[in-house]
Amino acid sequence: RDRLARSGSPLGARLLSVLSRDSLTEDDWDEIEEELLLADVGAGPTTELLDALRTKVRVLGVREPAAVRDLLRSELVALLDPGMDRALRTEPTTAEDGTHLPAVTLVVGVNGTGKTTTVGKLARVLVADGRSVVLGAADTFRAAAADQLTTWGNRVGVPTVRSDREGADPASVAFEAVARGRDDKADVVLVDTAGRLQNKAGLMDELGKIVRVASKVAAPSEVLLVLDATTGQNGLSQARVFAEVAGVTGIVLTKLDGTAKGGIVVQVQRELGVPVKLVGLGEGPDDLAPFEVEEFVDGILG
Ligand code: GDP
Repeated sequence: RDRLARSGSPLGARLLSVLSRDSLTEDDWDEIEEELLLADVGAGPTTELLDALRTKVRVLGVREPAAVRDLLRSELVALLDPGMDRALRTEPTTAEDGTHLPAVTLVVGVNGTGKTTTVGKLARVLVADGRSVVLGAADTFRAAAADQLTTWGNRVGVPTVRSDREGADPASVAFEAVARGRDDKADVVLVDTAGRLQNKAGLMDELGKIVRVASKVAAPSEVLLVLDATTGQNGLSQARVFAEVAGVTGIVLTKLDGTAKGGIVVQVQRELGVPVKLVGLGEGPDDLAPFEVEEFVDGILG
């Protein structure tokens, strides 16, 4: 938790230094604006936030930088919508005929954003919580991807369903994994997918087919989009494509342990209306945390 609060410190340090000046000049306000833009908060939300802030500063006659900081904090919290439901839907269900149906979570996103790592970490969290998990390696384009997932499965002590053939049909691997989860009466099946964005039509076909075929056993209750926080505005355009292609239910923002300031959260949540549910804070098995608005904002503000 403390790590999340520390994750945004670069922005915090500069903002704090601006806000600790005796009184805020026009240049100071410009600097605050620049910092928010550099943190990927986005032009629209930044303008809105500064307008609200300046109005309050005027109306309330706030001068003290510390008080301005508190106002900025509450505006940022409001922007991140603390009321959004960020709980993961990972409860198994029972079909009308009494068949056990595992909760299916599909993990999607561009290659390299941290999908496989996220699946591994999430499996670990669920297992620690007493749940039984099956992994599905539906990224069949690179044999290394299935190997990487299997390594995570072994590490966490859960089975990984994969194909021996490189280039096998990802939907059939997803189907096998969900069927295995049903037969084993597992609580959750986590399905890793490939994310080659070069060909949007191909991606659409592939993810659509995975959802359709997996749904023959159990429809996904979560489609988590993994975004790399360090890619800034690129994350937003990726999010648009995946939201269109696969009904995304939650965002996982990875690599917040690096230099990223994570303001992209604001833009993605707004545009897609989908909450950030989890954050990645490193490459290790314990480096996944729930997204907590207030901690995150404290991290940004330092
Ligand atoms: P995929 O292609 O989307 O499945 O991405 P991978 O899971 O293979 O991750 C790509 C790289 O990013 C790997 O080197 C991971 O260790 C690294 N990675 C994943 N999540 C995080 C994170 O939260 N922080 C950091 N620093 N690295 C991460």
